[in-house]
Amino acid sequence: MKPSDWLMINQQPFKIAIASGKGGTGKTTLSVNLAAYIAEQEDVVLVDLDVEEPNSGLFFEGKLVHEEDNLKMIPQWDESLCTLCGLCPKVCNFHAIMQLGPTILVFPELCHSCYACAELCPVNALPMTPKVIGKLRDYQVDKLHFVESRLNIGEEQAVASIAKTKKYVAGKYAEVRIALFDSPPGTSCPVIEATKDADFVILITEPTPFGLHDLTLAVETMRKLEKPFGVVVNRDGIGNDEVLRYCKAENIPVLARIPNSRKIAELYSAGKLIYPEFPEIRESLGHILDYCLSTAERSPA
Ligand code: SF4
Ligand code: SF4
Repeated sequence: MKPSDWLMINQQPFKIAIASGKGGTGKTTLSVNLAAYIAEQEDVVLVDLDVEEPNSGLFFEGKLVHEEDNLKMIPQWDESLCTLCGLCPKVCNFHAIMQLGPTILVFPELCHSCYACAELCPVNALPMTPKVIGKLRDYQVDKLHFVESRLNIGEEQAVASIAKTKKYVAGKYAEVRIALFDSPPGTSCPVIEATKDADFVILITEPTPFGLHDLTLAVETMRKLEKPFGVVVNRDGIGNDEVLRYCKAENIPVLARIPNSRKIAELYSAGKLIYPEFPEIRESLGHILDYCLSTAERSPA
């Protein structure tokens, strides 16, 4: 299958997730620059799934085209109907409901919105009700569509918010050929939710012992998820060559090496794109994109 046939056959964008074992490795830098680079030629959607701290938007002054609440369905106990039969704490696999004497307590942060309690309650005393957990905003700058979700302060519903954002993007941008997902850092549930249905994952790291440690964890996660992935080394030139040697030994493609540079750091802190100022980075972005899309040729339709 040719990359250009991907959309036609799969009826959805080719999804590239940009992830890293930890924060501060250049994930957002790569996401925004790759998105802007693609948008020079064609429509692209960049989705910031780092819902606890989305910051891709700092690089674009887009026009807000849509805004909505991110909701999560949780059961709300109706004391007037409840017979205290004790069934709901038993059916909840996530320990999100507890009976305390004559009271049923619901813990929204543990609830997975599975509806089991609501459906099995014999007297309908646990109707599922929407709870606002954050906001989704959709911006546009020419061919670049930028979607971000931001959790309300104190909310711990990152996975639900990420799932909702991906659903919105799948519905609204089914016609766009490429979608980029700036994923949360780490290897826990939010990053798994952000990357689990990606067609390709770019792992960005730094050539330091810490970078290598976090990269190995991220690689393990991607292998468990059976995702095709490659590595981009950021701040190349600091540290040592252990990351490169690890990638070679593990047969992991290194898609690009972004040099360590004061000018890049200054552009980043000023909320500016780097590739317009660095022809070699423009070239690297082209290579990264070609490689990602070339995996479509090796993927089953
Ligand atoms: S299942 Fe329904 S009736 Fe039984 S304790 Fe829970 S809320 Fe009350
Ligand atoms: S909806 Fe599911 S996860 Fe949430 S409280 Fe009910 S049984 Fe537990």
